[in-house]
Amino acid sequence: MKQLSILGATGSIGRNTLKIVEMFPDMFSVVCMTAKSNVDLFSKQINMFCPEIAVVFDENYADDLKKRIGKNTKTKIMWGKSGYIEAATCDLTDMVVSAMVGSAGLIPTVEAIKAKKNIALANKETLVMAGEIVMDLAKKNRVNILPVDSEHSAIFQCISGHNFSEISKILLTASGGPFFDLPVDEFLNIKPEDALAHPTWEMGKKISIDSATMMNKGLEVIEAKHLFGVNQNLIEVVVHPESIVHSMVAYKDGAVMAQMGVPDMKTAIAYAMSHPDRLALNQPVPDFFELGSLNFKRPDNNKFKCLALAYTACDLGGSMPAVLNAANEASVSAFLDNKLAFTDISTVNELTMNKHEIINTPCLEDIIKADSFGRKQAEDIIKSLEK
Ligand code: NDP
Ligand code: MG
Repeated sequence: MKQLSILGATGSIGRNTLKIVEMFPDMFSVVCMTAKSNVDLFSKQINMFCPEIAVVFDENYADDLKKRIGKNTKTKIMWGKSGYIEAATCDLTDMVVSAMVGSAGLIPTVEAIKAKKNIALANKETLVMAGEIVMDLAKKNRVNILPVDSEHSAIFQCISGHNFSEISKILLTASGGPFFDLPVDEFLNIKPEDALAHPTWEMGKKISIDSATMMNKGLEVIEAKHLFGVNQNLIEVVVHPESIVHSMVAYKDGAVMAQMGVPDMKTAIAYAMSHPDRLALNQPVPDFFELGSLNFKRPDNNKFKCLALAYTACDLGGSMPAVLNAANEASVSAFLDNKLAFTDISTVNELTMNKHEIINTPCLEDIIKADSFGRKQAEDIIKSLEK
């Protein structure tokens, strides 16, 4: 029986993780769960999975949650940063599913690694912000970081059983999002509801907007660089609108391994949860006769400026990816609140990066400062654009 702490239980990844736990009750149990503010869903999840600890963002949400779940439950309700860390480091936990969204996931994930918990990592922002620090810490503590992001899970599966030094290229696939074929002069009219309608994947709001700007793929290049310890020049983004090939790895003899499957995150989540075994998920095999063909296209960095910015931040390294990540969180949030045009997401991100003086080998404290700097600068730029 593997005991899980699920950080971000009410989110898209969290809900899918709980579906897997429900399917395999003899293999997994949930000892800790966290959410931010969705106490309605969270109270139902707590009643169903009876964790030892449940954590929300602040005291008001904690009070509301206590009222909803009633007095008879054994679950201890906690709140705030210390609560999230408690959930990430709990003695009973074997594996932490890191599935909060954004920079909020960094510290709980770092603390989980320090507590020697294996990590099923969905929160890519952790590696974007502090890839070197996190991977070093994982090595030192002999902790496995198992990728949940579907592309990274695919790469992980394509390298297993092969000689890593014989890799010639990593082909990171991207759906291209809802606007890949839209003429760039129509980008100005894009509304949040258009950007949230992803053609192939069902995901949380932030990552859906990141997919529409292709920032998501840029963040994934940085994530792959750290996770697999490769130079970013080895990673090539390939747009594949059907989202059947989840990524590929090419070897020096010309052989290319691809991992395929229907676009459903449960396969990647389950593989991280059960590695090296596979769970009988009963997922359908893609209907290749129905599909007929699979398409592959080159990304357009001029049209999707966020992708180019992520490559720049990755090349510059140090504290720059953390600044880009923070700016992007602020600009995506402003776009979702109808305070910023879709095309200004990349403008805000770029102007914020221009204001940052890079720290080349940052410690965790420097990363947190870079995050605050990026957020504050981006918010100021957003305000100036509003006027
Ligand atoms: P969602 O927005 O659906 O869920 C986010 C979760 O984090 C919710 O439980 C939310 O709580 C919680 N949360 C949000 N903000 C905070 C905060 N400040 N402090 C603590 N908890 C918080 O996101 P996704 O599930 O889509 O994504 C989660 C992570 O996984 C992201 O890093 C994303 O990039 C990554 N990922 C997601 C994929 C997907 O298919 N969805 C695919 C690959 C990676 P509440 O519900 O109460 O607000
Ligand atoms: Mg992905």
